[in-house]
Amino acid sequence: MKTNPVDKLSADIVVTVLGSGTCAPSLARSSCSVLVETGGRKWLIDSGAGTLRRLLEAGTTIAELSCLLYSHLHPDHTSDLVPLLFATKYPDGITRREALTIVAGRGFEDFFHRLKGVYGHWIDLGSDMLRIIEMSTAGGDHVRLAGVDLHTAPVEHSPQSVAFRMTGPSGRKLVYSGDTDYSESLIELARGADLLICESAFPESQKVRGHLTPAMAGDIAARAGVRRLMLTHFYPACEQADIEGECRRTYGGPLVLAQDLMRLVLD
Ligand SMILES: [Zn+2]
Ligand SMILES: [Zn+2]
Repeated sequence: MKTNPVDKLSADIVVTVLGSGTCAPSLARSSCSVLVETGGRKWLIDSGAGTLRRLLEAGTTIAELSCLLYSHLHPDHTSDLVPLLFATKYPDGITRREALTIVAGRGFEDFFHRLKGVYGHWIDLGSDMLRIIEMSTAGGDHVRLAGVDLHTAPVEHSPQSVAFRMTGPSGRKLVYSGDTDYSESLIELARGADLLICESAFPESQKVRGHLTPAMAGDIAARAGVRRLMLTHFYPACEQADIEGECRRTYGGPLVLAQDLMRLVLD
């Protein structure tokens, strides 16, 4: 697979890829996670295995996170939530001064309730330090948090799956697909976005239901008219494939192939 160099401009939203991989263990690619800095706050989108370590490598502690966004409940997107909450309770830890907000599709409350059934008080921060906001999975939804407009849309993967659009204080728009198959609602959500971070899990020759190929992700980006596309969530089969070439069949704009700890600045 060809890779692109780190790209830096100036800042309204700063994106750091913490995990560009999947459930497949990899030294090069952690499971899915993206750190977003905007409006003076730090947000995490998904937290698959390896996220906490990559977060430290990116120079951020868990106490600095204001908001966690979960695209869906699969383990490669959520499994570091338990160690994150447990570490927050560690007595010499990481002193959290403000409540943590979790935003996810409908069904997350039940998922979290079940996790607490297993781990009990070890992951229970109390209602004053943890707030959960469930977004509609039947249609588009919106919440304004810490000066950031957060829009969601259901996508084609699991009943709880949503894609996110974050609009920074200066109006720059970041869209994160989560896992999805071809999705008209993702195209609508991503319309005119400054950056679309889109899953591209398998090459064309190994297309799997519920996931995109590079050409499909490129088609979504082209139809949405995004200013830049980043492909991510690469299963091992992608490492041997010409991901950029496949994407170029449908998309001619600026293209980045995600790598762990890659940083992009939206000006
Ligand atoms: Zn998934
Ligand atoms: Zn996934």
